[in-house]
Amino acid sequence: MFDIKEIRSQFPILNQQVNGKPLIYLDNAASSQKPISVLETWQKYYEEINANVHRGIHTLSQLATEEMENSRKKVQHFINAKHDYEVIFTRGTTEGINLIAYSLGNSNFIKKDDEIIISYLEHHSNIVPWQMLCERTGAKLKVIPIDENGILQLDFLDQNLSEKTKIVSVNQVSNALGIINPIEEIIAKVRTQSSALMVIDGAQSVPHFEIDVQKIDCDFFVFSGHKMYAPMGVGILYGKEEILEKMQPFHGGGEMIATCSFEKTTYAGLPFKLEAGTPNVGGNIALGAAVDFMKKVGIQNIRNHENALLEYAQKKLLEIDGLKIYGEKAKRAGVVSFNLEGVGIASDVGMILDKLGIAVRTGHHCTQPIMDFFNVAGTVRASFAVFNTLEEIDALAEGVKKAQRMLM
Ligand code: PMP
Repeated sequence: MFDIKEIRSQFPILNQQVNGKPLIYLDNAASSQKPISVLETWQKYYEEINANVHRGIHTLSQLATEEMENSRKKVQHFINAKHDYEVIFTRGTTEGINLIAYSLGNSNFIKKDDEIIISYLEHHSNIVPWQMLCERTGAKLKVIPIDENGILQLDFLDQNLSEKTKIVSVNQVSNALGIINPIEEIIAKVRTQSSALMVIDGAQSVPHFEIDVQKIDCDFFVFSGHKMYAPMGVGILYGKEEILEKMQPFHGGGEMIATCSFEKTTYAGLPFKLEAGTPNVGGNIALGAAVDFMKKVGIQNIRNHENALLEYAQKKLLEIDGLKIYGEKAKRAGVVSFNLEGVGIASDVGMILDKLGIAVRTGHHCTQPIMDFFNVAGTVRASFAVFNTLEEIDALAEGVKKAQRMLM
């Protein structure tokens, strides 16, 4: 049974007032709140274990290693990776994509005049690392266009995929608009029309969807812990074994070597080759607790609840005269992104909502090309998690109406 009251009771941060009003947290696409089980796991690590991993013979170090490797296995099963060593701990999605871009660059995988394809709907962290790789190598960046609903125009792939295409990197869900991209169709096209590697940015899909990387058949899948109820500063890069094996390390340092001398260093096997330095052990262990939390609630339950919130939010907000939702006609998950006609600055709306205790994100959401496409400086974005309620959506709609009255 899905019991929203019981779920909310697991999020202590929700029991507070902001600006004299009960907190309504609708900024989950930026970072979700954390349940007690995650907070306690993290605290317990520091109170009872706190030791470095993979290095010590002493009991605490072994315990830390065991717990962290156990968490890696939880993530492996959560995304259905074939092997636990295909699951690399990172700082988040941004680091995951940079790791791939640098490592493939260092492995001579990309050469002058090769092509990398991304989409118009990408977060800056799935744009800039590829631009930097293109600058280093002379490769070209191509961009799948969108239509007025924000829907990707996939015939672009038919016209542009070729043996020159080395990487295609798209998100599964857009953070700015919440649009669900047809990654299965994209991957099918990429597989039949090129031999490019397929990277999926799952930062906004993992918190809402069941993920099966083997079924999707992507080469890489990256995401952040902090958007899926885990602490900040942890994330995952999944990669297929045969590809990770061929990749050069991203960072050099401790943990990632097999042998090291001044003359020559040889590298450790997976996953350690790609995990130089001391990891965020407590955070990585707490990521496992976040996986447990999501599984316990049930990913389909989370999805159904958030879909109901989204549908209701869309209905309530569209009752407001002059409110435009971007990507309204597209299939979406967890996000409504909107502006009020005649109110030029989204942050003005955000500030009024904040005074009412309602936390939303305003601005370009690290997706300036999308904002340019719609010819706006930014939008107001409300984004949902499992603990949000229909009553909170009512409060959002009332708050937006109030903002409209005050700003027009
Ligand atoms: N990609 C998408 C789709 C995102 O939503 C985000 C975070 N807003 C990122 C990448 C970057 O994630 P992080 O800042 O956790 O590295």
